[in-house]
Amino acid sequence: MKAAERIPMLAVADTGPFQLPPLPWPTNALEPVISKGAVELHHGKHHRGYVKKLNALIAGTEFEHMTLEDVVRATAGEPANREIYDNAGQVWNHTFFFEGLRPPGPLVVPLRLQDRIDTEFGGMEAMNARLVQAAVARFGSGWAWLSLRGRSLEVSSSPNAGSPLTTGTIPLLALDVWEHAYYLDYHERREAYAKAVLSMLVDWHQVARRAGLE
Ligand code: MN
Repeated sequence: MKAAERIPMLAVADTGPFQLPPLPWPTNALEPVISKGAVELHHGKHHRGYVKKLNALIAGTEFEHMTLEDVVRATAGEPANREIYDNAGQVWNHTFFFEGLRPPGPLVVPLRLQDRIDTEFGGMEAMNARLVQAAVARFGSGWAWLSLRGRSLEVSSSPNAGSPLTTGTIPLLALDVWEHAYYLDYHERREAYAKAVLSMLVDWHQVARRAGLE
């Protein structure tokens, strides 16, 4: 999709250094896997809320002129800046999550990525099962991740706003497992949500690009 075709679905009226990135597709584009209403709430309220809170928290601080990635790294593990870390992490994680999804369609995986998945997990189905397990096993709110550690693919999860930016890995794919990500469409069925997103919505070209395996 060309940049000009991106739908700036909600006007951004927030002030501050960080802006709510537009979604890379219209809000109904993920149906029937994720409803338009759930996308609107997730992006327009939750993601936007983290941006606004972050801007409010960093006003007049040393963080005001940093990149988002630097704010996350500078505040990680610092109890005094926990709230800034949480909101910066959530802004980054959501942007990364949404940009890793595309409208439902045939599963197309670039060959070099497919080879790596076959070698390390024995196939896409087995890898996705590991990701689903990570999503389900994460108690409470958090994220499941596919990352590159060195040359190896790694499945992991993080609690709350936990960022992959300080883990020494290259993040490839995020799966939001906060209740707000699935409750409207899937109620308490996190596993069904995780399976549906992984099998139908992941943009594997984006994952391959992020891995340098396009
Ligand atoms: Mn979320």
